[in-house]
Order: sequence, then structure tokens, then C-alpha cells
Amino acid sequence: MSVNQQAHTGPPYGQPQPAYQRYQQPGYGGQQMPGVPHSQYGVYNGPMPGYQQPAPPQGYFPSLGLPSKGSPVSLNSDTSSLAPNFIGPLRTPPTSGAPPPTSGALLPVGQPAYNQFGQGDVQNGIPASAVQMQRPSVSQPFIPGSTPTSISQLSSFQQYGPSPTGAQQLTNHMAGMTIGSVPTSAAPPAGVGYGPSTSVPPASGSFTATGSGLYTPYSSSQGPRPASMTHGLPPTSLSQGVPLAQPAFSGPPLSMQRLPSQGSGYAPPPSSTGIGPSNYPSTTGAPRPSTMQSPPLSGQALAGLPASQPNHLASPPPPQQAMSGPHPGPPMTGLQGPPPPSTHPSQPGYQIQQNGSFGQVRGPQPNYGGAYPGTSNYGSQPGPPPPPKRLDPDSIPSPQLNELPPQQKPRHRIDPDAIPSPIQVIEDDRNNRGSEPFVTGVRGQVPPLVTTNFLVKDQGNASPRYIRCTSYNIPCTSDMAKQSQVPLAAVIKPLAMLPTEETPPYLVDHGESGPIRCNRCKAYMCPFMQFIEGGRRFQCCFCSCVTEVPPHYFQHLDHTGKRVDFYDRPELSLGSYEFLATVDYCKNNKFPDPPAFIFMIDVSYNAVKSGLVRLICEELKSLLDYLPRGGNLEESAIRVGFVTYNKVLHFYNVKSSLAQPQMMVVSDVADMFVPLLDGFLVNVNESRAVITSLLDQIPEMFADTRETEMVFAPVIQAGLDALKAAECAGKLFIFHTSLPIAEAPGKLKNRDDKKLINTDKEKTLFQPQTNFYSNLAKDCVAQGCCVDLFLFPNQYLDVATLGVVTYQTGGSIYKYSYFQLETDQERFLNDLRRDVQKEVGFDAVMRVRTSTGIRATDFFGAFYMSNTTDVELAGLDCDKTITVEFKHDDKLSEDSGALLQCALLYTSSAGQRRLRIHNLSLNCCTQLADLYRNCETDTLINYLAKYAYRGVLNNPVKTVRDALINQCAQILACYRKNCASPSSAGQLILPECMKLLPVYLNCVLKSDVLQPGPEVSTDDRAYIRQLVTSMDVAETNVFFYPRLLPLTKVDVDNDALPAAIRNSEERLSKGDMYLLENGLNIFVWVGVNVQQGLIQNLFGVSSFSQISNTMSTLPILENPFSKKVRSIMDMLQAQRSRYMKLIIVKQEDKFEMLFKHFLVEDKSMSGGASYVDFLCHMHKEIRQLLS
Ligand SMILES: [Zn+2]
Repeated sequence: MSVNQQAHTGPPYGQPQPAYQRYQQPGYGGQQMPGVPHSQYGVYNGPMPGYQQPAPPQGYFPSLGLPSKGSPVSLNSDTSSLAPNFIGPLRTPPTSGAPPPTSGALLPVGQPAYNQFGQGDVQNGIPASAVQMQRPSVSQPFIPGSTPTSISQLSSFQQYGPSPTGAQQLTNHMAGMTIGSVPTSAAPPAGVGYGPSTSVPPASGSFTATGSGLYTPYSSSQGPRPASMTHGLPPTSLSQGVPLAQPAFSGPPLSMQRLPSQGSGYAPPPSSTGIGPSNYPSTTGAPRPSTMQSPPLSGQALAGLPASQPNHLASPPPPQQAMSGPHPGPPMTGLQGPPPPSTHPSQPGYQIQQNGSFGQVRGPQPNYGGAYPGTSNYGSQPGPPPPPKRLDPDSIPSPQLNELPPQQKPRHRIDPDAIPSPIQVIEDDRNNRGSEPFVTGVRGQVPPLVTTNFLVKDQGNASPRYIRCTSYNIPCTSDMAKQSQVPLAAVIKPLAMLPTEETPPYLVDHGESGPIRCNRCKAYMCPFMQFIEGGRRFQCCFCSCVTEVPPHYFQHLDHTGKRVDFYDRPELSLGSYEFLATVDYCKNNKFPDPPAFIFMIDVSYNAVKSGLVRLICEELKSLLDYLPRGGNLEESAIRVGFVTYNKVLHFYNVKSSLAQPQMMVVSDVADMFVPLLDGFLVNVNESRAVITSLLDQIPEMFADTRETEMVFAPVIQAGLDALKAAECAGKLFIFHTSLPIAEAPGKLKNRDDKKLINTDKEKTLFQPQTNFYSNLAKDCVAQGCCVDLFLFPNQYLDVATLGVVTYQTGGSIYKYSYFQLETDQERFLNDLRRDVQKEVGFDAVMRVRTSTGIRATDFFGAFYMSNTTDVELAGLDCDKTITVEFKHDDKLSEDSGALLQCALLYTSSAGQRRLRIHNLSLNCCTQLADLYRNCETDTLINYLAKYAYRGVLNNPVKTVRDALINQCAQILACYRKNCASPSSAGQLILPECMKLLPVYLNCVLKSDVLQPGPEVSTDDRAYIRQLVTSMDVAETNVFFYPRLLPLTKVDVDNDALPAAIRNSEERLSKGDMYLLENGLNIFVWVGVNVQQGLIQNLFGVSSFSQISNTMSTLPILENPFSKKVRSIMDMLQAQRSRYMKLIIVKQEDKFEMLFKHFLVEDKSMSGGASYVDFLCHMHKEIRQLLS
């Protein structure tokens, strides 16, 4: 498939609102949504002026390349005379703009004269003195106040952990929680608010009536609203209706006034004046014909794609060379699947493995066999005979030896069908809880499993899509909590996308006065605040402090003590909502500018030769039309910039007035600076012709490069400096191929050493090899510079170190080992499209407040902390989660329960400063049984995995594994001792809510991070470690226990998926095909005896032996079976945040080992226990604890 076809094919772009619709998960959590009319849940729908979008258009014109305020360029102008040649005649230079960029050599890209650099500026360019520029000392002051921080001064900065340094400007707004002495008795508003759902719908009417709400459906950062939200809202009414409806706040919200469209000296483009939903470019995928002036293509010769070049695989350095490094093993099984056979013909890692070496035989696991005293101990304890068939749901039927046929005794101590089955638990939950919406009005209610499709109706608590807890009933005392060993944690996904049937959070605008908050603990107004004294004051539900109600917020109470505008105000009646932040919530008391995206492309030999550079450039040409728009904006406010690099950096001036882009080379990477301000970050539509020209020319410019030495840290530094100069937050998209060994800051060495595995030094493999990147990350966080990293390694490139900045800035990391255009481009492009389009909150700070008695003590995820309470995120996207652990600091009461409030302050992609609030109320218990009845094992596993994966940074892996086993044994032993009815010690009794804890825990224990097989690379372990740290509960669930579907059971006439089966080889039939997915990969396993007709229908070949296991997509065949299987795959892909790689595995093929790695109920080749063995081991551990 050619790149051009890829770039313009429809589906991702074929919809009017791609950023939203594309990511609607067709089956949230597993299967098709039940067809519930969404109007039923649109609580605040309806024609309510109060909910109109508060006229965002007028203040949100794209910022037109704000001319670098406060950055007068004082440059040597020896080359500035070149500039007029390239400035178009039609535009006046911005009045406040900098003079034409001159500190770098101005190179009219694509001009004939440029050809002399086209061979690669490094080796054979023009004399270095003319092209490559050393940093002139005089340019130092040209970015006042944003001079790059001297990184070496920060070398003591602590990695990955809270640091005492760095006072944060926003701290005063997210002030520390004060622990009040009296637990609040502010029970959740009684009665009506928690009644049947019918009490809520009137809300929609009352919004209109009172006119008090300025909140709008939260759409600005979610993309277009569902249709039910938009009807009856003529765009023209927006700007008038909203301010007028709220007399207390005349005029539009403050933030709307701060971006006069003419502020930059530019006139807005004509197309921007009539902004309104109806003006959306309804073009479905056609990239804006009106502005697509055909660019002056000097690089017109975009002829053959690298993919079609026969030599692109054989070009030096040959892949074999890469493979002959210190770690020649094939790419890890867990992520990348088999390397392309053509590239890596020998698979040493697989050949040592023999088929069928595990998973067939059940019996004592080598790891545990010694400790496990054998069958005689199990179930044959002296004492009262166990009840034959207990009806207690907590009881696991554990067949006794004498119940088994004699021939099974030696090997089958436990019937595998009698131990808890994940499939059954998932199925039961779907059947029991999938049909009714989950209404959040009840405190401490355990939500359905993440694998169940259900709708959520917000009645005062945050949706489980935003917050899930390990337990919804918290022990009242610290002693109880310690006794149970159940960790108390919440997995929070503050910007989660919701299904279209659910209403995104409303935006509340309190005008200049800002959100209502408790005077003492600064908690935000929420449904649990108690209004007293006729409504003149409220008592804080978190700290009990009493705060005056501001006059403009006063409202009378009804006879139940509830404000009469309860249903009119999301902050009084809903679990999740947003506040428009005032200027007090902004850095330097100044509203932020819209963020910027900077694309930074590795143009080394490898990147060019693999076709990657051309692929990226082609894709960006169309992808730039789909930058996040932030709601109703006609076009995205995000500005873009471009950098290419090898061991020097090339900046591009793509100012709209230029006829051709200009390149500036910075070779002094040791002291990075940005050679141009005006023209570097631009509006896509204004500069489209220049950008297109640039993207056409980049692949040509570097087509003949031979550069293989790369820098990395200076690239981040340059992006950071550019954002600093532009005084905005933003995101860097870095496309990088290799270990940065060129002489530059952040230079790395290859320190991979698999011999360290299972030694005390194994932890060093997960630690960055230098503090340099942590220090850089800290600077990035301070600026709101989020770094997304796309890696294309052919060998070790030290993910553990390169990923530090990504990790600490809340960015995403993607890895495509042994990238090949044919097999990997679809996956990469899908990931890139989603990554660019998805909504991101920038420059964010998250604080979790709790009611008296517990407090947040520990945090897991991709972020930075400079104190113990504020989670700082340069960027936070809709897929990222932050896990928070809580500890007691006082007693809790059953009456009050426990409350959480997560507040996220962030800048939207439109540049709007917002606060997103999520509230959750939990029960508290004095009986352990209540705790164990209200736990959620999937969330528990999410927490435990993150806890363990962090532990490997500082502890031997075995220590981490043992600690996990011990903690879970204690959890289960506590239950057995305190909650289960008396029975034989030989009987294993698990709490109903935790009966999957052993099987899931075993999956974590034998995951690639904690127990790697020989084929798993060091980079892959670091990569997985980083990914899991930000995963939500649904992702960890399927990652650790993959979904396995029998394809011959597919009903082509039915939308439903076939019933999943357990992940064990003995469940596979030779006559069937199976699909297995874990969120990163999709396998299709084909049994040797599959009917020929099925093979023909799915693969288009006539026999098993003809099936190619190198295909990266299934062939598109016109038969029901093929269509159905492909539609299932599409559905699964849409559910996951990353595009999964398809790997075809034939039974008894050498690649089958890759597949068997994911049959997690079986013994693994790396020594991981089978489920049965591990359950026996856990049982023994529990009994030891009890004796
Ligand atoms: Zn308070």
C-alpha cells in the first residue's frame, strides 16, 4: 500500500468530527452497547439557554502565530538581507513581531540553490561556516526570562519521586488539605438526590428557568457533542444568551475576553468570522480544498515509495548487523511479535524452545514444587470432613482426592474446571449488571466490572470511567486496614472519554469570582457540602469548616435543607463537572495562550532508508487538519512547528508569507537555542502552502544522508526552548530511531546487560543511566512541555533513559522494533493519528482531597511531583490514569463514610484554563466482611502491578514478587480467619469479590517485567513497565489476562462476540482458530486441523501450509466469515488506546511460542507457575499464615 493512499484514506478522517467519533468505543469494555436511547440519560439535555456554550468563538480565534511577545530578537543581521527574498508580498509583518530571523543561515528550502545541501547537510553540504551556525553569544538575551536553564545546576534532582525543590506557582490554589479534628457529619444530601432516577430529569427544565447556570455541556475539549446535546441551540444565541442569563456576571466570562482576535496584529482570516457549529468544515476527509493552493513543489519527485524499493531492506547497515549486537535475541514476544522473517531469518530465541513443553502437564511447578509438600497435604487434613457441596458462594469447590478418579490423583490435585474462572466471572457480571445503567447516587456502590458494558448515570458520584477503587467500603480504623492488607487505592482517569450515550461533564462558569471553595481546605463546591443557616453558609464535607456563601451564590433551601437550585447546578448535583478557571489559576496571573505542537523528526540514515521519514511527512500533511479543536472552534487553535535532526538540528521557518520554507541549522547542540521565533510556530491553515512544501521536501533533502549518529536531549531542549519563547504549553512529537551516541548533552552508552537479570543489579536496567533527563523533564514540566516519543529501534536504545522525560511529563511512548513499512505502517499511523488528535490537558496540576480520616499518601503514573500532594503533568491525555493510594490518619465513621475529591487544573487545547472535579463517596465499615464484599479485584490488580513495577526500580525482582505473594496471601488469610465460616483447613476459601485474585496475581508475577523469558529485551521490559504505570483498569485487565475468542464459534448473523475461553493450551482445539488480544497485540492462532474452507475464507489461501505468518492485516475477502472476523478486529482495535499488532500464528510453527506466552493459565517458559500450581501455592501460604 502506498503512502499516499494511506494518508488520504478515509475512515479516520472520513467523519465530520473525527476527534470525537473516531474514538468512541463501540463496546465500552467488551461488547456492543445495548441500544438504550441516550435521551434517557441526557439529564441536562434540552433547550436550555443556560447550557449554551458561552460564546467561545469570539475569544478563540487561532492565535495567528502570536509574535513572540517579549522576545525582541537582537541578532546579528548579517544574513537578514536574505529574508525579503522569501517574504511574500501580500502580508505586512506583524507590528510586534521580531525582525526576520537571522541568527541562523537562512536557507530557502527547495530553492535551486538549496540543492547543494540536499545531499545531507552534514557530510556533503556547503562549508560548515556558512550553513552551520555556532551560537552567537550575543543571542543569549534574546529570550528574556526564558533562557534555557542551566541543566548542570540541577544534577541533584531526584528521579521519579517527589522532590522537595521547586516551589510551584500554583500551590496556593491547590492548598494543602487541612485535617480537621471533627469528622464531618455532612452526610450526602439526603433523600431526593439519591432517590430514583426519575427525580433528576426536571433538571433540564429548571436550567432554563433559573438562568443561573452558565455552565455548558462540556464539549470544548471533547469534540462535538452528541446530537442530543446540540439540538435547538442556534449558534447566534450563544454570545447573547449566556452573559445575559446571569446578571451577576455581566459580560462574557473573563477568559473569553482575553484573546481579542486582533491582538496579535493580524486580522483574523475571513473564514473565522462566522464561527458556529454550522460552519464546521463538513468535508469528510477532503483536506480543505479552498486553502490548498498547490505548493511550489520543488521536490515534486515523490515517485517511488521506499516501501517499493527492493533494496531498502538490504541497505547498510544491514539489520543482521544490528542483530549481531550484544543481544541478538529476536524482539520480545510480548510486544512486537516475530521479527519479519526476511530480516531475521534465524530465531535463536525460539529454537531452543520446543512445542508443548508447557501447558500440557499439570503438576507441581518447579518453582513451587519444593515448597509444596505434595498432594498428601492438600485436602487430606485430619479433622472434620469438608462439607461435600457447599452453597456458600465464597467457597471454592475443591474436589478432594477421594472424589477424583484414581488415575488423576498423582497429577490433578485440583480440577481446573472447579477453580475460579475469569471467563465465568466476566460472563456472570455481564449478565447480571450489563442491562441496567449504573446510577451513581448511592454511596459506596461497587460498579460493574470493566469488562461489562454498562451506561453510567451521574447522580452525585463520579462515573467509574473516571474513578475506580480497590474497595468501596473502607475499614474505619487503620488497624483494620492493616489487618486486611487490602490496599486502599483509587485509579483515576480524569479526562476519560465517555461513550456517546453519556453526557460529558458540564462546564460551570462563576465569572470573575471563580469556583466556590471551602475557606480552609480549599475543596471545591460539590454535592456533599452541607448548606446551613438558611443557605447563608456551608459546612465543608472534607474538613468541616464553615464558609460563608458569597452573595451572588446564595440560594434558599427547601424543607429538606437542600438548595432549591440543586438540580440546576452541576456542582451541587453531579459527581463530575468542570469550572472555568479565573486568572488566579493561571501561571503569572496571565491567561495561557493556546498550546503548540512541535514535530521533531529523526532524519538519520535508518529513518530515511526505512521509509519512515517520508511516511511521517506524508501523514502530517493531512493529519494537521485534525488537531484538537477544543469544542466549537472552527479550526484548531494549536500552532505547529517542525524540526528535523540527526546530530545537528534543523529548524524551519514556515511563516505564511514565505514562498518557500527556510531552514536553519543549529550545530552547537551543547548549548541549544532556537534560532527563530517568528515563523517557527504557525497556524496550519495560514501556512498550509509553506508547510506542505516543507513536508514534500524533507524526504528529498535527506534522501542521501549517511548520518547514523544521533542526538536526543538537545531535541527536547530545543522544543522546550521554543515553547518557552512562545510562552505557551505544548507537546513535542519526537520520532527517534537509535541510541543517542553523538557528542552532545544526554549522550548515552549501550549499557544493556542481560546477565544482570536475577541479580541484585537487575534494578539498574530499569533506572536511567544518567540524571540528565530527569533534570530536563523538570524543566519541561515547569513549562507545560509534554513529550511524546515514537521509537523505531533496530537495537537497544535505552528506553529506561530516553523514556524519562516522556514519563515525567505525562507523555506517551510508542515503540516499533525493527520497523518495516509494509508490516508496521498501519499500526504506526493509527497510533500517530490518535495521539495527535486526542484531547490533552496541558500544564496540569491534580490534587486529591479526602475527608478527615484518610489521606492520599502515594501516587503512581506518568507525572512529576515536587511536593507530596500535587501531581504535576505537563500534559494529561484522555487515556492516562493516575493511581492514588490512601492511608488512615484517623478513625472513619460508618455514618459519614469517606469522600474523595479529585481536582485537575489544566489548559484545554483551545487555551482555556479549566478545573475538572470528580467526587466520590465511599462507605466505611467496622466489619471486615463488609470490606471483602465490596472490593474490586481488577482495580486491586491494577494497583498491585503498578506498585510492583515501581518496586523493581529499587529492589531485586524476586523480592518484589515475594512481597506481592505475601501481601495477597495475607489478604486472603485475613478473610479466611475473620469472615469465612469454619471449615476444614484443607479447603481453600476465597472471598467472592476476590476469587480471581490468585489467577490475576499470577499473571502479574510472570509478566515480562517481573519474570522475563529469554526472548524479552531490556528495552521491552522498560517499555512495558512504563506503559502499565499509566494504564486504566480495563487495560491492565486485558493486558495481564488476554481475551481469547474461538473464531469458528463466530456467528456471522449476530453482533455478539463468541464466548471467550480461558487462556490455556488445553482449551484450544486443533480444528479451530482463535483470536487473542491483550491491548498491544492481536494474535490469530490457526490449528493444524482447521477446515480448508475456513482457511480459504479467512486467509484466501487453499491450505494451512500456505498461510503466511508475515501478514500484518487479514486479506479483505468477500465472504461473511472474513467480514465478521475483520469487523471483530476493528471493534477490538477501537476499544484500545493503541493500535494492536496482528500476528498470525500457526500451530506447531516456531512462532507459536510467542502465542503460548499469552496462555497465562499455563506454566510459562520463563518459569512462571500455572494457575493451578499457583493456587496451590497460595493455599499453602495462606495456611501457613493461619497456623
Ligand atoms: Zn474544607
